[in-house]
Amino acid sequence: MIVLLYIGITIATVAAMEFTAWWAHKYLMHGALWFLHEDHHKHDHEDDSFFEKNDAFFIIFAVPSALSYWIGLSTPGLMWLTFVGLGISIYGLIYFLIHDVYIHRRFKWFTHLDNKYSRAILRAHGHHHVFTEKEGSESFGLLVVDEKYYGRRKDWDKK
Ligand SMILES: [Zn+2]
Ligand SMILES: [Zn+2]
Repeated sequence: MIVLLYIGITIATVAAMEFTAWWAHKYLMHGALWFLHEDHHKHDHEDDSFFEKNDAFFIIFAVPSALSYWIGLSTPGLMWLTFVGLGISIYGLIYFLIHDVYIHRRFKWFTHLDNKYSRAILRAHGHHHVFTEKEGSESFGLLVVDEKYYGRRKDWDKK
């Protein structure tokens, strides 16, 4: 039964990370940490390097994950924390594959992926990128997409 509990904790953590990422994106990345996120909205093509300052967030989000593995594996009775770490890692991988690869095409994978849900994700995040300033943007989440992005463009493309 303990296996089911650990699987449940992992899945719950992945789900909670969508909310955490939404919160961090809205209040930290478009807040005090805008200086790291700004280049992801402005795409300065003079500097054509592969990496953005925004990639620092992969390292920032790896810290709670690494701590969870470390404390979970080294502390008797806290094994469940290891699976919180695993959930954070899985969400990080999903975020990378959907946001960096599928949406922003940093690698040419999944270029044929096309369905109602993937299109809604593209529209919602595309709408987030319509805004290039710290303030005023919307659609901060990734996997949970507002219903309006499943509809026709005129239903949501009002700035
Ligand atoms: Zn943003
Ligand atoms: Zn983006």
